[in-house]
Amino acid sequence: MVRGHAERPVYLYIHDGTAEIRNAAALWGKPTFEVADSLKAELGQGVSVLTIGPAAENRVIFATMITDDGASGASGLGSVMGSKNLKAIVVAGDKKPVAADPARLDKLAGRVLQLRKDTWKNWLNDLPGRTSLRACYGCGIGCFRKAYQHQGRRYKFFCQAVHVYWGAAEQYGGDSTEVGLEAVRLCDRYGLDTTVMQPLIEWLGNCYREGVLTEKESGLPLSKIGSLEFIDGLTRKIAYREGFGGQLAQGTARAAAGLGKRAQELLNASILTRANESRDYDPRLVITNSLLYATEQRRPINQVHELTHALWMWRNWTRGEEHGFISTDDFINIGRLFWGGEAAADFSTYEGKALAAKKIQDRALAKESLILCDFLWPIIWVRFADSHTGDPTLESQVLSAITGREIDRAGLDAIGERVFNLQRAIFLRQGWGGRRGDRLLDYLHNEPLEFTFFNPDCIVPGKNGEVVTRKGARIERKDFEDLKSEYYTLRGWDVPSGLLTEKKLHDLGLADIAPDLKARDLLK
Ligand code: SF4
Repeated sequence: MVRGHAERPVYLYIHDGTAEIRNAAALWGKPTFEVADSLKAELGQGVSVLTIGPAAENRVIFATMITDDGASGASGLGSVMGSKNLKAIVVAGDKKPVAADPARLDKLAGRVLQLRKDTWKNWLNDLPGRTSLRACYGCGIGCFRKAYQHQGRRYKFFCQAVHVYWGAAEQYGGDSTEVGLEAVRLCDRYGLDTTVMQPLIEWLGNCYREGVLTEKESGLPLSKIGSLEFIDGLTRKIAYREGFGGQLAQGTARAAAGLGKRAQELLNASILTRANESRDYDPRLVITNSLLYATEQRRPINQVHELTHALWMWRNWTRGEEHGFISTDDFINIGRLFWGGEAAADFSTYEGKALAAKKIQDRALAKESLILCDFLWPIIWVRFADSHTGDPTLESQVLSAITGREIDRAGLDAIGERVFNLQRAIFLRQGWGGRRGDRLLDYLHNEPLEFTFFNPDCIVPGKNGEVVTRKGARIERKDFEDLKSEYYTLRGWDVPSGLLTEKKLHDLGLADIAPDLKARDLLK
């Protein structure tokens, strides 16, 4: 754990069982890739580097931290490092961790490989002759994660980041491939979160078209959105907080508040969360997601993926598509085994959704603590099996094999629940506001659902597995408040206020944090 902050820029070098704090004055102000390359040149190509860019140094609220192989930590974590004057963390070592029961772990690894092999279709378009599949370090399974070479260096090509500017570049014309790739590199170079940048660019375009924001006011070539000139200027201005970039560095919603009512209304077309992230997995489509979004301060992608990935596979099945294998019966089975009951698999009602949300959250927090990949875990569905239903006990078996301390599924879920409650305590202490703070953006209550990117017709499994559409659905406020009440009851929280209770903290072994919350009048 890194506590406090350094007086001057430093980096942390962990090697041979020691942790050294070193001077990083020469690295401060430099972009991420240059920092990683120069640390590797100095300390050896075998070291691993996590670093921040200028955006985090300047406390942009959506600044990332990034590894030398392109993986990034979002949700403003980069700025936490920046606030500590911590430019990078470098790790070197040649010792391998040894499991308490290596034979059991090997057997489990074989089972996971069998369940997950070839799970993911290579759905991200290849750039002929340039991209190739590249799994993360230590992943023996892989997915659609790719990399490509550019001017002698390897860059990632993966997931949402690829799309941060591709659509805009295509619309603008010219060499959209090169501009799209350069846009991702620029975001990563400065350390800007692409899930915030993509809707931010979309919103800027809408503001410009409606005359809410001019090129003169913003200092940005808004008539050239999609060009290299625009993305180059935008990323630099935000990262260094130059001019209007300083407002954008506070997040899209705050920038909109500074521009007035129409600019705020235009946000609805682009962002889904209070942390300004893109409109990907809409709670009007998947009601359970409404609780997942409302009780987190940033998009809990590892939680919303659980239902939406399964829904995606089910939708493909309804259309007879090649990569569709979860039938309605499978879906209901998964509901029984993973989400607390069949009701959770009926997406047309609020019934069973509070329990499903709690189960998903507890599992996800345990998963995050184990640092398990979101594309492989939890193994709730299996592509190549008769029932296509996964195994909810695997994570606890893996943990038992590694630590030598036997733990079952319920025990691991309890760990996740403890972490989630601890997080809740931190949120409350930072001014979350309990029930009042557990909210969604207004338009999700007021405007009917029209479209989602992975499910344009918005179809879901309804009662008795009937195929129904959620087009036109809203999250009705009364239903949502009732859902929250049911959820607080399941969590053992105070229902009227949404605050933690002394009893729950005691039951979870978290009694030591009770006095602090009590002194702040945040405990029931
Ligand atoms: S499955 Fe997960 S760990 Fe493996 S390559 Fe894909 S993202 Fe990385």
